[in-house]
Amino acid sequence: AKGAAMVTAVAYRLTEQARQIQQTMAEFRLSKAQLLEVKKRMKVEIERGLKKDTHKEATVKMLPTFVRRTPDGTENGDFLALDLGGTNFRVLLVKIRSGKKRSVEMHNKIYAIPIEVMQGTGEELFDHIVYCISDFLDYMGMKSARLPLGFTFSFPCHQTSLDAGILVTWTKGFKATDCEGEDVVELLREAIKRKEEFELDVVAIVNDTVGTMMTCAYEEPNCEVGLIAGTGSNACYMEETKNIEIVEGNEGRMCVNMEWGAFGDNGCLDDIRTKYDQAVDENSLNEGKQRYEKMCSGMYLGEIVRQILIDLTKRGFLFRGQISETLKTRGIFETKFLSQIESDRLALLQVRAILQQLGLDSTCDDSIIVKEVCGTVSRRAAQICGAGMAAVVDKIRENRGLDHLDITVGVDGTLYKLHPHFSRIFQQTVKELAPKCNVIFLLSEDGSGKGAALITAVGCRQRELDAN
Ligand code: BGC
Ligand code: MG
Repeated sequence: AKGAAMVTAVAYRLTEQARQIQQTMAEFRLSKAQLLEVKKRMKVEIERGLKKDTHKEATVKMLPTFVRRTPDGTENGDFLALDLGGTNFRVLLVKIRSGKKRSVEMHNKIYAIPIEVMQGTGEELFDHIVYCISDFLDYMGMKSARLPLGFTFSFPCHQTSLDAGILVTWTKGFKATDCEGEDVVELLREAIKRKEEFELDVVAIVNDTVGTMMTCAYEEPNCEVGLIAGTGSNACYMEETKNIEIVEGNEGRMCVNMEWGAFGDNGCLDDIRTKYDQAVDENSLNEGKQRYEKMCSGMYLGEIVRQILIDLTKRGFLFRGQISETLKTRGIFETKFLSQIESDRLALLQVRAILQQLGLDSTCDDSIIVKEVCGTVSRRAAQICGAGMAAVVDKIRENRGLDHLDITVGVDGTLYKLHPHFSRIFQQTVKELAPKCNVIFLLSEDGSGKGAALITAVGCRQRELDAN
C-alpha cells in the first residue's frame, strides 16, 4: 500500500509539473481575436506615423525613403554596395546590364565586425568599414574606379533625400557612440577622406527592407512590399505620396520604411507581453525600445527561450533544478540552433546532442520540454509578425479602394529562411487575418546588395536628368 501511495504521489507531482509548464506556455498562445487586435493596433500606429500632427511622437516611424518607383529593367552600370546591420557585413560589386539580355552579376566578400567595433566609437566603426572597402577594392583590382556606391544600412534613418540619412537610434547589437542624430552618409564620406586611398561616390542610403523589395520587384513588378524577418524585424511598402504628410507632393507613390520593430514602445502591446519579454528587454542594449522586434526577430527569440528555461529550472522542472553557467549566458540560442532544435527530422536524442553542444546537460524529458518551449515562442513570433503584415496589405488594399488585392511581398532574413516553421505559420496568419488579399511571398536572393545597386542606378540617372 505504501508503494502504491508513493507511485500516486510521484504521478501527481509529474502531472502538476506538466500543468504548470503548460500554464507558462499558455501566455504565449494567442487567439485569433488577440491577433486581430494586434493587426488593428498596427494599423493605428501606421496612421500615426504617416500624419504630420502625430509623426513626432509616433513609435512606428513610417520613414520616407525617396524611392519613388520599383525597377523597370533599364537600370545599368557597375556599382559598389555595402550591407551593414544584418547577420554579416559585406562589401559587394554589382554589375547590372539592361536591355534584352538584362542581367545582374555580383561579387562579394564577408567581413567580421568585432563586437568592440560595433559598440566602440563611431569613428572606429566607419574606419573599419572603409578598411574593409579598401581590402575589397584591392581584391577586385578596382581601386582607381571611383564607383557609385549604395549603402544598405539596416537601421532607422530620417531621410531628406536618397543620399542623406540621420540615424534615429541604433538597434540590434550595435551601439557605436557619436552616430545617433548624425547623417551616416556624411560619416562614411568623412571616413573615406580620412583614409586618403580611394574615392567613391555615395549615391544612396538604403534600408534592407527596401533593398529586398526592389530586388524582388526587378523580377516581379507586382512586388510592392519588403519584409525582413532575420536578426531584426521590419517592413516597407509603396505608400501614396499624398498620405506621407511629412513629404511634399501629392503625386505617385513612395516607399516607406515602416520601422515596425518599434511597435509597442508606447505600451500598446503590454497586454500580450509576458514577464519573459520584459526580462529580455531589460537585458538588452536598448531597454524600452523595439518591443515588437524583441518578440519576433532572430536576435531575441533565443533570449526569450533562455528566460523561460531559467524560470522553469528555478522552479525545479528542468535540468534537475541546476542553472548552469551556459544558461546564464546571453545569446547562446542563435537562430540556427533554434532552427535545429525545432526541425521535425531530428530525433530527441539529437536535440539532446545540440543542447549538449551548448553545454546543457539534459535528460530526455528536458529535451522534450525545451523543444516545446522553442516551438511555442517561435509560433507566437510568426503569428504576430503575420498580424503586422496583414495590417500592411490591407492598408494598401484600402489605399487603392479595392475589394480584393493581389500583391507580392519580397522577403529576406535568416529567421524566415532557416527556421523550419516560421515562414509557414507566418503566411498562414497573413491569409487568415487579411482574407481580402491574395499575397504571394517571394524570397529575395541577396536583396541587400542587389537592391542597393538598383536604387543607386536609379539615383545616378536622376542626377544626370537633374543636371541637364
Ligand atoms: C532595424 C530596421 C531593419 C531591421 C531588419 C531593425 O532593427 O531598425 O531598420 O530593417 O532591423 O534588419
Ligand atoms: Mg541582411
